[in-house]
Amino acid sequence: MSKERVHRFVSKDLTLRIAAVNATEVVRHMQNLQNTYPLATVAVGRSMVGALLMAAQLKDDQMVGLLFRGNGPLGSIYAEASYNGHVRGYTANPQYQPANYDNGLSLKEAIGIGLLSVARHQPFQKQPFQGTVELVSGEIGQDIAHYLHQSHQIRSLVSLGVYLDTYGKVQSAGGVLIEVMPGVDEALVEKIQKNYDDKKPNISKMLLDGASAEDLIKPFLDGIAYEELEHDHPVEYFCPCTKDRVMRALELLSNEDLEDMIEKQEPVHVTCQVCGRPYDVSIPEVKALKEKLYKSSLH
Ligand SMILES: [Zn+2]
Repeated sequence: MSKERVHRFVSKDLTLRIAAVNATEVVRHMQNLQNTYPLATVAVGRSMVGALLMAAQLKDDQMVGLLFRGNGPLGSIYAEASYNGHVRGYTANPQYQPANYDNGLSLKEAIGIGLLSVARHQPFQKQPFQGTVELVSGEIGQDIAHYLHQSHQIRSLVSLGVYLDTYGKVQSAGGVLIEVMPGVDEALVEKIQKNYDDKKPNISKMLLDGASAEDLIKPFLDGIAYEELEHDHPVEYFCPCTKDRVMRALELLSNEDLEDMIEKQEPVHVTCQVCGRPYDVSIPEVKALKEKLYKSSLH
């Protein structure tokens, strides 16, 4: 199977920019790694799709990170994507289950009231641009649209979909982002709204029926002339974790825990929670860490 990528389009009059993606494989990969239950799968999956779509409108090597922090039981949800197609996602509470599924897979209550923070990183720049807005819906897509409007004065239509089978397994995931540039002919905006209201496009259903990324945007842009832009970066689940970061996580352990590991004389296996990559930490490394922590505790 060929690798998916985020497809980018622009209206012929250049006032609409559009991105669309079939992200089924990477969202499925995230689910397999983190064993996410339905609500977490949908929340992280939609966030990953949103991040991919937003990142495709940046420049080479730039990244966008979305952090949803709500007071609901799902807690925080994080997704990050780069212009070059790398994406990862994570939630602190992947196995959260509601008392019942009367609300279906609505995220509103699971996420709760809170904030969306968006960070944009550029290479060689220490301080990322960061904007924070209140969550308006907790369903991810509308919250991203609210952020784009509040922080960048961009009106947009964000449609994200993650479809699960009856076992809660990801069957499809993808989305469409349409951004309206300043100076747009309002008739064009009305046309998109009318298309949306008339056709009620269901992204995950369309993907399930075999739609390509190009097919996804058709119902939204009926009657509008557009063309595709080049953006040839395969979508890939990628985590920039390193052994150093894993070692830093071990610094949170108590002296007793570290001593315990040393006594057992068995190398420690640590797994990155975001990508599942295994790291082996040797006994000498644990000893060195214990020494380092002891020294720094003296200051
Ligand atoms: Zn990792």
